[in-house]
Amino acid sequence: MHALVIDPLRHRLCRMLAAALFPCLLAGANRAHAAEPATWFPDAPTFTRYDWSDTPCPGCAPLAARAEWRRMAGLAGVPGVRFRIASNESLGPAYAVAPDIVVLSPAALRLEACQLAFLVGHEIVHIAQRHFDEDAIALSVMSGKSARWTARGEDAMQLTDGNFGLALHAAHLWQAQEAEADWLGSLLAAACGCDIEAGALAWFRLDGASGGGLAAAHAESDTRMRQLVPYIEMARRLAARSPD
Ligand SMILES: [Zn+2]
Repeated sequence: MHALVIDPLRHRLCRMLAAALFPCLLAGANRAHAAEPATWFPDAPTFTRYDWSDTPCPGCAPLAARAEWRRMAGLAGVPGVRFRIASNESLGPAYAVAPDIVVLSPAALRLEACQLAFLVGHEIVHIAQRHFDEDAIALSVMSGKSARWTARGEDAMQLTDGNFGLALHAAHLWQAQEAEADWLGSLLAAACGCDIEAGALAWFRLDGASGGGLAAAHAESDTRMRQLVPYIEMARRLAARSPD
């Protein structure tokens, strides 16, 4: 599972990148209805790609994508993202299954639209930035193996089974991935007309008040809200320029 501590350097780099891309954000918003990748969304990584075809999604059933989810997937460069509904709330309101599935719980589907857009955007970022493959590489290398010791991603992920030290070693990477999914997911939601206040921050307040809903891998809601402060104005402008 995911992480324990914040990686301040990674987060600072993300903020610098966001500031540098600010003009592109506004230019990208003008292409609002296009399902093409947004100019401001980072390119997909080119590192080792694993086979995740056997990744289980127990209890999942097909779910028709709403127009804004499909739009966010297109902006992130992964228009083929599939959506599923979970049979219960046991794994939280939203999660991603490798390589390209976003799973939403029944309760998540009852959320206000912008809060749900943020949750979906967050999971799309995990898929678009191939965090599953990044995890598999990191765990392999941290275990003294070549990144190509197996073709199956599940094999690499199982290296953490019973190995708490390895999980701790990887924790900084997981936390950085979560921060990246938060801010990029917030901007994807903004491109659908949801500023951070209506999307991420409203969700975190609800999530915090209910005692926490997302997986323990995520930082506390207060921490995640503070990390998004640098992006509030950027998202507001992006949302205001969205024709949605
Ligand atoms: Zn996440």
